[in-house]
Amino acid sequence: MIKECVGVLAIQGAFEKHRKILTSLGCNVILVKTIDDLSNINRLIIPGGESTSMRIMLKKHLLWDALKDFCNKKPVMGTCAGAILLASKIDYGNEEALEIMDFIITRNSYGRQIDSFTSDIAFTGTNSEAIISAHFIRAPKILDFGSQVNALASFEGSPVLVQQGNKLACTFHPELSDCSFIHSYFLSLS
Ligand code: GLN
Repeated sequence: MIKECVGVLAIQGAFEKHRKILTSLGCNVILVKTIDDLSNINRLIIPGGESTSMRIMLKKHLLWDALKDFCNKKPVMGTCAGAILLASKIDYGNEEALEIMDFIITRNSYGRQIDSFTSDIAFTGTNSEAIISAHFIRAPKILDFGSQVNALASFEGSPVLVQQGNKLACTFHPELSDCSFIHSYFLSLS
């Protein structure tokens, strides 16, 4: 069986744990740092971190446009800062997004780093409901989303995991949970 080649954007942020989970699920993982790396993968995770730093680095390394192109064509999952970049609009100082998924997001919505927290959330993306321990680290909040977008999990009335076709955006850090549930779900999307 040919192993699937999955990329994890490794410009900045929490890419290492995503790599470990994907490897444990049997994927070939490429840490994506260049345009060439993008041509060797079938799907991509954009990890959490700091979205402003990521944007600056992506532009500096001339990766922004190639990344946008890749994300429009292939399955992609953005977590936390990655979700911010995938949004259609960042309602926070008019920052530029990749505009891949149809939702509006705002940053640092639950306070400062010290206010980060963990909460159990119910995932409703498959037939049976799963409970996931979700780590919110200076997390963003999805404020509104279009009709093509489905909320697969919510916290305090706001969607925290959304799907639009083969794209996922998650405002928490699934790589820090004990289960690989969300990664497996992402790998099932085509
Ligand atoms: N606060 C970060 C930002 O706005 C995101 C935090 C994270 O990825 N854990 O970019």
